[in-house]
Amino acid sequence: MGEFDDALIVTALMTQRNDRQGKIVIVSGPSGVGKSTICQGMVERLDNACLSVSATTRARSKGEIEGEDYCFVSEDEFRRRINEGLLLEYAEVFGHFYGTPKDKVEDALQGGRTVILEIDVQGGKQVKSLFPDAEMIFILPPSARVLAKRLNGRGRDGDEIAEERLEGADAEIAAAWQYYEHMVINDDLQQAIDECVKIVQNARCES
Ligand code: 5GP
Repeated sequence: MGEFDDALIVTALMTQRNDRQGKIVIVSGPSGVGKSTICQGMVERLDNACLSVSATTRARSKGEIEGEDYCFVSEDEFRRRINEGLLLEYAEVFGHFYGTPKDKVEDALQGGRTVILEIDVQGGKQVKSLFPDAEMIFILPPSARVLAKRLNGRGRDGDEIAEERLEGADAEIAAAWQYYEHMVINDDLQQAIDECVKIVQNARCES
C-alpha cells in the first residue's frame, strides 16, 4: 500500500470516529423561564438526543420523579461523588448542590448522541472548558415581569424561595451575556423550541 492509501485509511478512521462522537448542548436560564419544557421539546424533535439527569441535594418537589427529574441524594453521597470524580461538573445553586453524572454523559457521547444538559451558568462554564465544542444556549424570559409571574404561578416554591430565585435571575442573565453563544427568548414556547432545535442541527452540520 502506498502513502496515499495510508492517508485515506487514517482519514476514514477519523471520520468514523467523528460520526460516532456525540455533542453536548448546555441549556441554562433563570428559574421559571421554561427550560425543562424546552429541553423536553428538543429531545422529542432531535434525532438521537437525550437529557442528562443530574444529582441534587435539594428535596424532591411534588410531582418530581426520582431518576427522571433528578437523582435526589444526601450531602454525604454528593460529596462522595465529587471525591470519587464521578461528576462532570457541579455547583451550589440556591443553597443546594447540583451535578452532572460523568459516566452517563460519556456513554451517550460515545454512542453518538446529542446530550442536553440543563444546568446553571457556573456548570455551563465548567463543561465548556472541558468540551470546547459544546453548544451553549441561554433561555431568556420576554420580560422581568413575565418571569416573576411564571415563578409565582408555578406554585412549586414558597414565596421566599421564589423571591430568592427571582433575585438570582439578574446575576445569571448578566453572566450569560458574557459566556453564552446563543440567547433564545421564550415568549412563544413552540418558537423557542424551534430556535433551539435549529441551533443544534446547524451545529451538528458544522462539526
Ligand atoms: P431547580 O431546583 O429549579 O430544579 O434547579 C435550580 C438550578 O439548578 C437551575 O438553574 C438548574 O438549571 C440548575 N441545575 C440543575 N441541575 C444541575 C446540574 O447538574 N449542574 C448545575 N451546575 N446546575 C444544575
